[in-house]
This record gives sequence, structure tokens and C-alpha cells, in this order.
Amino acid sequence: MPFTALGLEARIVQAVQEAGYTEPTPIQAAAIPVILAGTDVIGIAQTGTGKTAAFTLPLLTRMTAVLNGRAGTKALILAPTRELAVQIEENVRIYGKHLNLRIATVFGGVGERPQIQSLRAGVDIIVACPGRLLDLLGQGHGDFSGIEYLVLDEADRMLDMGFLPSIRRIVRGLPGKRQTLLFSATLSKEIESLTQEFQRSPKTVQVGRRSNPAETVTQWVYEVPAHLKPGLLAHLLEDPAMNSVLVFTRTKHGADRISKRLEQSRISCGTLHSNRSQNQRLKALKDFRDGAVRVLVATDIAARGIDVDGISHVVNYDFPPHAEDYVHRIGRTGRAHAIGDAISFVSGDDQAALRSLEKFIGRGILRKKAENFDLSAPAPPRSAEPPVSRGPRPQNRRGGDGGAAQGGGTRGGQRQGAGGGGGSGGPRERSGQQPASRGGSPPSRPRREPAPQPAQESSGSAGAEYASGPGGRRSRRR
Ligand code: AMP
Repeated sequence: MPFTALGLEARIVQAVQEAGYTEPTPIQAAAIPVILAGTDVIGIAQTGTGKTAAFTLPLLTRMTAVLNGRAGTKALILAPTRELAVQIEENVRIYGKHLNLRIATVFGGVGERPQIQSLRAGVDIIVACPGRLLDLLGQGHGDFSGIEYLVLDEADRMLDMGFLPSIRRIVRGLPGKRQTLLFSATLSKEIESLTQEFQRSPKTVQVGRRSNPAETVTQWVYEVPAHLKPGLLAHLLEDPAMNSVLVFTRTKHGADRISKRLEQSRISCGTLHSNRSQNQRLKALKDFRDGAVRVLVATDIAARGIDVDGISHVVNYDFPPHAEDYVHRIGRTGRAHAIGDAISFVSGDDQAALRSLEKFIGRGILRKKAENFDLSAPAPPRSAEPPVSRGPRPQNRRGGDGGAAQGGGTRGGQRQGAGGGGGSGGPRERSGQQPASRGGSPPSRPRREPAPQPAQESSGSAGAEYASGPGGRRSRRR
């Protein structure tokens, strides 16, 4: 189905085509007509499925009628983190580039003044994190009496981050007669009660199974004692196919230590967590996006909303205790139509979380044994460090031509970096542990084609051990 068949305004279709999108993603095809009809919508879609355009395109279409009148802010989009807010803003600017829109972003961690000024100047759309927005509203900034559209993006994460009281206070100040769209990766009981509170007769638009990670992501697990995780990461990074790797740690300190070890081993990497300054986060994300660094080590909170083309691998260095976090983490690869691999390190303590994840996503995850990696090595004395050596130079993941290969489904607007940190008034990250080491040198980053996924076992640095549970799918790799 082409974009022209969805009933979108011609200038918006033009912008989408200029962004390089050839056809709507499933969530876009499903949600756009319902939103255009003026109905409240609950959108359940995995991250990376194109959900931002799914709500932005019809909203802009509906707003074009009122934009000429220019009477106050018409749409409010709430998002959990500043990165996501910035990315949404970038998308809105891309899709609305022929509409002469006025947009403001409002989030914490940066000065209030420019945000206050743009609110004063008058804007059509505000993209905001709840904490800072509430602060500014409390100071008398922003006129929400004309709001007709409210979007709650990544609502599940906003609940996790404790934003519900702020959201309630913000929504209380909005006109009751409005269209409210709520997007979430998962549909929990809490989300359902949120929809009852904020929406009227919403229609649910769901793409794929509930809680199901993107089908284009191949997942497997290495069962590894905690003390061997640094060595295993180093071992895996000897594979040049791991050319754009997002490593998740549970803690900020853990992220710092891994980055330090990678740098010592001359593996180019960046670090993203909420203790880093805004500039450091922006740089880390930009470097990763540009392919100037091969690895980005991040905590969950800081990684929220990261949208980087062509991430080849997500590595759960620390296994996430909550299944929802796993779904979000691995959604950083396999975005839109691209493919990717998600690797999880699982130690003794993580087995229960792994089992409940498998229940949550309704399928088993393949366990693999890393080839040529000694899992029986004893824990080193506390001060000892694993030997450091350099891995081979990475090449293009699929034998490409140096980074020019086009990913499946053309991607739109080039993005600017937005640093980490958990949005204004966001939550805390934990303090803690763990190092890692060595591998190759900076990559070129090819975009990746979606590929058929025949049932086959992988080879290379990792060999398959067994598949557990229902539908233990195997990947197309190598
Ligand atoms: P999102 O889930 O909104 O974060 O989008 C993930 C990525 O998919 C972004 O880089 C978008 O630019 C891209 N995207 C959104 N819609 C389409 C489409 N119809 N075709 C190709 N790429 C898209």
C-alpha cells in the first residue's frame, strides 16, 4: 500500500517520500487511518517499527486545517527521555517540512530560558518530557487551552520512570475534548488503566504479538560465569562482523569500566549514561551514529530512544531483570526493516529472569557456546586483568563495499545526536561493576538488507548449543 492511499495531506506525503520511505510500515498502515478518523488510539508496537511516523503523519494532516489560524499550541507529545523527545522533534520537522510548523522541545538537563522563550513565542507542537514541562507550566509558561491532540509515547516507560503523577497534573490542565494517542511497546494492566483514565473509547492498534521483539532480530544467549563476561565480550569482538555494537550494562560504573577496558584494547567506543554531561552524551551518540566508534556502552535509561541505523549487534552484557527492558534493548537493532542480532550474557543469577523473559515473549531463546572460549577458567585474583590483545580489523558485515550498502526499507531523515540521561525528572541508575576488553579497530558501517531467515546454525566465533522452548528460531547469519 502506498502512502498516497492513506488519506494523508499531500505536502506530508511529499515530505515522507523525500525522506526516502517507499511504503508505510505495518503500524503506520494500521494506525494512520484510525487516527485520521479522529479516534483515540492505543498503539502497541515494538520500538523501531516506525511508530513515530504512525502518530505524527496523521496528526500533522489533521492539524493542517487549523495551522493557518495559528491560535496557540495544538498538539502536545509527551516522551520519557530527552533523546526520544529530540528524535520525535526531528521526525516532526522532517515530516512537516512543507508546513511551516513551529515546534518546541522541553526537557531537563539543559537551560530553561530558550525553552521558555520558544513557548512564549508561540508554537504549534510541543514535544516534552513530563518533569520539565510541569516545572515550566508551574511558572506560568505555555498555554494549553487550545490543545486538541495529546500523544503519550513510550507510555510504559513513562510509568516505569515514575512520571504518572506529573502526567496526571499535565493532563488535568488540557481541554477534555481532545484526541489522545497512547503508544507503548507492551500492553500491561497498568497501561490499560492509563488508557481508561486518559482516553475515550480508544481503538487498539497492535502490530505483531504482544511483547514480541522485532522479528528481524535474531536472539541468543551465552551462559557465562560473571567473571568471564569481560573476556567473552573481548572474544566476541574479535569477529569483525560485530561492526556496530551497542553494549548494555546495568550500572553507570559498569558502563565506564567496560568502556575503559575497550579503550585500553584500542577498540573505539563511547559511553552513554546519565552521569555524563549532555555534551559527552551527544558526542558519544554522534560518534556511534557516524561509525567513528565501533561500540557504544550504555545503561538502559540513557539508551532509551536511541535510533541509530545499522546497529549490527546488541549485547546484553548484564541481563535485564525486566522483560520489557529486554524488548526495548534489542529493539535498538533490527529497526524498521533492518536486521540485527541480540546477544545476552546470562550468569547463574540471571536464570530466573531469562525464564520469565521467555515466557513473556512466548518463545525460547537459543543458548550457544562460544567457540574457542574457555568457560572453565577460574576467577582471576581481584587485581588481575585479562590479557589485552587486538582483534582483527573489522570488515563490512556482509562483505559490503565500505559502508554504502543501503539498508532494507529506506530510512528517512538524517538524525542529530541527542544525549543520554533519563529525561527531566527521570529515574535513577544503579551503581556497580564489571570490565571488558579488546577486539578490532573502527568499522565502516554498512546499512543492512533485510534477509530471509533460513533455519540454520551459525558458525564463526560462536557455535550453537541448543534451542530451548517453543519456536527456538535460528538465524541467517554466517
Ligand atoms: P521509530 O520506530 O519511529 O523510532 O522509527 C524507526 C526508524 O524507522 C526511524 O529511523 C524512521 O526514520 C524509520 N522509518 C519510519 N517509517 C518508515 C518507513 N515507512 N519506511 C522506512 N523507514 C521508516
